[in-house]
Amino acid sequence: MLLSALGSKLRVDGGVKVLTFIIETAAQAGAEISPNAFAEILGLESRLYTIQSKPGADFSEDAKSSAFLREAFKQALTCPLCGGYLDPTKSASYDHVLRKKDGGDGQAQNCQITHPYCNSLKG
Ligand SMILES: [Zn+2]
Repeated sequence: MLLSALGSKLRVDGGVKVLTFIIETAAQAGAEISPNAFAEILGLESRLYTIQSKPGADFSEDAKSSAFLREAFKQALTCPLCGGYLDPTKSASYDHVLRKKDGGDGQAQNCQITHPYCNSLKG
């Protein structure tokens, strides 16, 4: 194919330009190229879906799962040192916000929950 003549760094850009040209040319001719047509040409087995919900529809199981995960992640603990999610049931480290050697005490307000690895790097 022509695209393989391009260097690997230019191939994606070239592909986008070719597809854009095809779509614009088809639109000028009054034809419409659907995403499913591209999937078919590429031999992809999965289908492309446009997800739209009608007014008054019940929640699908996917919508319920998405909402649950969105809310669960909002409430999930994060490591104050790296920002990553914490699973304190598996591994967590109790870190002195102000280090002991710098005068930090053992009160709750000087304690933060971190990844053990992050705490060890803080040293
Ligand atoms: Zn961390």
